[in-house]
Amino acid sequence: MLNDFIEQREQLREQLRVRESKKLYRRRLTLESPQQTHVLMAGCEYLAFCSNDYLGLANHPGLIEAACEGARQYGVGAGASHLISGHSSVHHALEEALAHFTGFPRALLFSTGYMANAGVITALLDRGDTIFADKLNHASLNDAALVSRARFIRYSHLDLAMLERQLAVCQSRRKLVMTDAVFSMDGDVAPAASLLALCEKYDAWLMLDDAHGFGVLGSQGRGTVSHFHISSPRIIYMATLGKAAGVFGAFVAAQPEVIETLIQHARSYVYTTATPPLLSHTLLKSLTLIEDEEWRRERLTQLVACLKREVQSLHWRLLPSVTPIQPLVIGGNDEALEISNALRERGLLVPAIRPPTVPQGSARLRISLSASHSTDDVARLGTALRELDSV
Ligand SMILES: *Cc1c(COP(=O)(O)O)cnc(C)c1O
Repeated sequence: MLNDFIEQREQLREQLRVRESKKLYRRRLTLESPQQTHVLMAGCEYLAFCSNDYLGLANHPGLIEAACEGARQYGVGAGASHLISGHSSVHHALEEALAHFTGFPRALLFSTGYMANAGVITALLDRGDTIFADKLNHASLNDAALVSRARFIRYSHLDLAMLERQLAVCQSRRKLVMTDAVFSMDGDVAPAASLLALCEKYDAWLMLDDAHGFGVLGSQGRGTVSHFHISSPRIIYMATLGKAAGVFGAFVAAQPEVIETLIQHARSYVYTTATPPLLSHTLLKSLTLIEDEEWRRERLTQLVACLKREVQSLHWRLLPSVTPIQPLVIGGNDEALEISNALRERGLLVPAIRPPTVPQGSARLRISLSASHSTDDVARLGTALRELDSV
């Protein structure tokens, strides 16, 4: 028995060694400063292009003030789940503000986007139903699909003809098409209007995961639905609040019967503690900044154009993306890691994204831009990349 346990520990160490030898081993960076464009790590300052803090709100003085005020007003912990006694008036006010902002009748807060996706998919679908999913969707959508026990069919990235063939032969009563609205490792935008048209034709629901579009795309940052000017009771909209919104959490916006179904049946909603109300208080403030400060989105557009000019002469190519996610495809895992390390030696942080997060042979630098970057910051990255390209 005891020998068996020793052997199991040895197996874990062996698996880790294999992962290391394939250059797939992940190590965490430890920040010693708030999340911002210039961060402190092991006492050194780095210019960072890693975060999802697209609007530069994660360390905003007004939001810090709102968080302190929220703590004084509501305490630090929710103390219970939403269905027991953890649902505070400020959670409720935020849900109403988010519904109004995104143009849906109702919205429901979740602790994280991962949990929101799990909640929606498992509450709405069961054995006998079918899920259609883009191959490059975020892991949280895939995990949710597996847990739901519905049939899980994937289509090639953005291949609507393939999706249509799959929908046309499907006999399930309930069908749901799910997609990243902005793809997290590619930065491209799903053609939501065409997807919606297919869903209408084949009587399916459309689940949009707008983790990277909310706050960034659409009029006043209302997200991908606003970007495409679409609206339909078939749409189930999920967005996160820890990325462009700069704080933490997520929400689902949809029709009242969908939201009520989630409150009754979404296990990741029912069986977990509500987020600290102070976060909702902070997010109400964040929402006003998203809505009012157009200059943050204008700055992002300017930075994307600047980056494209800076990397034009490199032999590596940026993927076609208009969003602040700008992936520079390198190819091999070793090379992507080497370039990321060489940038770090020059005081620049850009993460290498490797399989299985992205397909084999497409390891990349995921450059993410923030409204807090300056064009000088982007020029510095461009100079470093050109130096590394020529060696
Ligand atoms: C980050 C992300 C999530 C998960 O959101 P969290 O709030 O971080 O759990 C879900 N979907 C996509 C596409 C994401 O990028």
